[in-house]
Amino acid sequence: SAASPLLELRGVRAGYGEVEVLHGLDLAVTSGGVLALLGANGAGKSTLCRTVAGLTSCGAGKVLFRGEDVTAAPAHERSRLGIVLVPESRGIFPSLTVEENLQLWLREQSLRDGVYDRFPNLAARRGVEAGNLSGGEQQMLSLAPFIARPPALLLADEPTLGLSVKVAGEVLAALRVLRDEGTTLILVEEKAQEVLTLADEVGALSLGRLQWLRAAADLDPDELTSAYLGGA
Ligand code: ATP
Repeated sequence: SAASPLLELRGVRAGYGEVEVLHGLDLAVTSGGVLALLGANGAGKSTLCRTVAGLTSCGAGKVLFRGEDVTAAPAHERSRLGIVLVPESRGIFPSLTVEENLQLWLREQSLRDGVYDRFPNLAARRGVEAGNLSGGEQQMLSLAPFIARPPALLLADEPTLGLSVKVAGEVLAALRVLRDEGTTLILVEEKAQEVLTLADEVGALSLGRLQWLRAAADLDPDELTSAYLGGA
């Protein structure tokens, strides 16, 4: 029988004050896979991530995790259940060094050493303030705690934004490691090129609704173009 989804959104409406951004979103995410969600600026990608993480509340609809209704659960409760969000801002403290940032997440030296083994660039920069790292190094740092302790579900909001193709490839390699450790990934991006090398499924978000969802193998290039442009 078909496994029940790890994450399910049913008719989710969410937004900011009077402004509704997600207009009744339905989405089911299978455990163990990689879903790339594409959409133009303002499509609601960040709002979707925040709603799954519990940082933005649902005006209507339900969020289910492992079949359990978590719609009313606060963010810290969802993170305890294994739902984590790497925000577009990357969630690091720019005035703390790489090592100090890691210490906030990983108390044990052995876990931090494991991160440095995996990311030699970070090891070389451990005394540098995070705000002075390159975009790619910052993205590695933001993923580091989760590489050390893989969560059940990781949402990454624009993980390759502003990165060169080469550095984006390194970030995707880190995400692939997480996938191989059993983490289910939702990668939210404006453009698809890089994430398509990793995605099992691709969805297009437009104007707060899911326009389509396909197996990556069945993608139509014209559909992809319309997802970038925000058309349906
Ligand atoms: P982007 O790629 O620009 O981040 P996005 O697809 O992630 O786009 P969201 O950030 O979810 O889109 O924004 C969707 C809509 O919600 C936009 O019209 C935006 O102006 C609005 N919005 C986002 N954050 C807030 C907020 N804190 N208060 C009010 N409106 C907001």
